[in-house]
Amino acid sequence: MFGRAPKKSDNSKYYECLGAPETASADDLKKAYRKSAIKNHPDKGGDPEKFKEISHAYEVLSDPEKREIYDQYGEDALKEGMGGGGAGGHDPFDIFQSFFGGSPFGGGGSSRGRRQRRGEDVVHPLKVSLDDLYNGTSKKLSLSRNVLCSKCKGKGSKSGASMKCAGCQGSGMKVSIRHLGPSMIQQMQHPCNECKGTGEAISDKDRCTTCKGEKVVQQKKVLEVHVEKGMQNGQKITFPGEADEAPDMITGDIVFVLQQKAHPKFKRKGDDLFVEHTLSLTEALCGFQFALVHLDSRQLLIKSQPGEVVKPEQFKAINDEGMPIYQRPFMKGKLYIHFNVEFPDSLSPEHCKALEAILPSRPSAQLTPMEIDECEETTLHDVNMEEEMRRKQAQAQHEAYDEDDNDMPGGAQRVQCAQQ
Ligand SMILES: [Zn+2]
Ligand SMILES: [Zn+2]
Repeated sequence: MFGRAPKKSDNSKYYECLGAPETASADDLKKAYRKSAIKNHPDKGGDPEKFKEISHAYEVLSDPEKREIYDQYGEDALKEGMGGGGAGGHDPFDIFQSFFGGSPFGGGGSSRGRRQRRGEDVVHPLKVSLDDLYNGTSKKLSLSRNVLCSKCKGKGSKSGASMKCAGCQGSGMKVSIRHLGPSMIQQMQHPCNECKGTGEAISDKDRCTTCKGEKVVQQKKVLEVHVEKGMQNGQKITFPGEADEAPDMITGDIVFVLQQKAHPKFKRKGDDLFVEHTLSLTEALCGFQFALVHLDSRQLLIKSQPGEVVKPEQFKAINDEGMPIYQRPFMKGKLYIHFNVEFPDSLSPEHCKALEAILPSRPSAQLTPMEIDECEETTLHDVNMEEEMRRKQAQAQHEAYDEDDNDMPGGAQRVQCAQQ
């Protein structure tokens, strides 16, 4: 231990944030909060982060118990005490609202009014083929979602009334206090288990029979998703407000994220398409033509120019036969053709002679018999280069395992290595 010298900076930040001295009275703090909260409110163009800090600082310092903990032990002690770590505390706008009890900006100046929480968005992946993205399509999807019970209008009770939860007196939170020492207490806040944090209770007699007091019921709904020509992998299609409904909550969106399936023939890069085509050596040298069936079933005639030679790995492109461009479907990218050339595995001596007669002659600089005599004989082996590299890599990894083996207690490191 390095002694218990209290670090000054640890428990002055909140005061600086409010612009109040550490000796400020509760009234002074109130005035300081009022001034800086209005000045920094996001509705007035303030920085939301700064506003959050101010609200949090005031939330702590306006509570005598929390202020005492903060003054003595600083921010960290409070974080621990407030349960679950993190910033703890409440929505800064709620604090602001409860402080001013209405709009401080006068006459509906604030667009926020009574802030409602927003429900979560529901995200679904949607697999689509390249044909779908080329031609456009629509897909009907059946989903089930929570909607507010129409019988009780989301109240959960027949009468529309609800009682305060006895477990938390309607606050939705329970607070427990732990004594850590003679002058230090720890306050733990957690959602009430009896009402699941809603603060409400409904008597058995009054419970809505349709939703059994749950306030929401399940509903099946069919959504028609329009996949437009030229949409991209990962593009989102949003149905606003179609996610699960809940009382006092702005309903979130249903979001479909397009996932383009691999195509056996075409590959896509942005608005361009790529296709591989293998030519025989005769076709590569003496010309070719073939039909390519496109993603909309049209047949394109692809042919070489007279006298043209196509080399292995060569690319050629056709304009305006790539993917349609999103929202401008009459414009299209390019279609690239990547040519492979298949060579014969061997040739007979007669064929060699016949070919040599036609093909360009060999390089003029040939080795003389004397020069050959001075060289060492070698043998050329066939290799599969990919396999060779794979084997070398596997071997290197194996050696790495052996070295690490002794200091790795679990298998975690092995998994990491194997994924590299
Ligand atoms: Zn409760
Ligand atoms: Zn109901």
